[in-house]
Amino acid sequence: MNLAQAIRTIPDYPKPGIMFRDITTLLGDAEAFRTAVDAMTDPFRKAGITKVAGIEARGFILGGAVAHQLGAGFVPLRKRGKLPGETYAVEYALEYGFDAMEIHVDALIHGDKTMLIDDLIATGGTAVAAVELLRRAGADVVAAGFVIDLPDLGGAERLRALDVPVSSLVAFGGH
Ligand code: AMP
Repeated sequence: MNLAQAIRTIPDYPKPGIMFRDITTLLGDAEAFRTAVDAMTDPFRKAGITKVAGIEARGFILGGAVAHQLGAGFVPLRKRGKLPGETYAVEYALEYGFDAMEIHVDALIHGDKTMLIDDLIATGGTAVAAVELLRRAGADVVAAGFVIDLPDLGGAERLRALDVPVSSLVAFGGH
């Protein structure tokens, strides 16, 4: 199963110069979806993970499946204004813009062994903000998993510098 072939690349979306790595084709392929979720999950089956945190929106699809496989709870990290309860918030820079992310203040129990999930890590701005939020909420962030890494943008290294082990399934060069 070649996961890279299941991912569609759309040039110049959402703006010129960005090679958008579209995982909807992977998600729609039953074998590729299962292979990806299994590969993200298998190394952590005995890691004692109690929570999986997914980043809106594609991180919800993958993170929900990973949480189910690990027998862990799922915690959504959402765009500003979407969570109904009391939240912590953090602003962060994207590869193509700015955004803010929130977590419910009571989403985690102090020390919850938490795995962060998103579809792709580029500059790492989103994932670094997520780790900051998770730690503020009391999480012990023990792993971060992505389908795609863009290593030339350095995001995985930024996360590792925060003592978060990073794993990914497919790497694409360039932006
Ligand atoms: P970053 O904060 O730069 O690591 O960007 C990661 C976030 O932006 C993830 O939630 C991705 O879904 C999205 N993203 C960034 N660059 C791309 C890309 N080239 N293709 C698809 N999604 C991207």
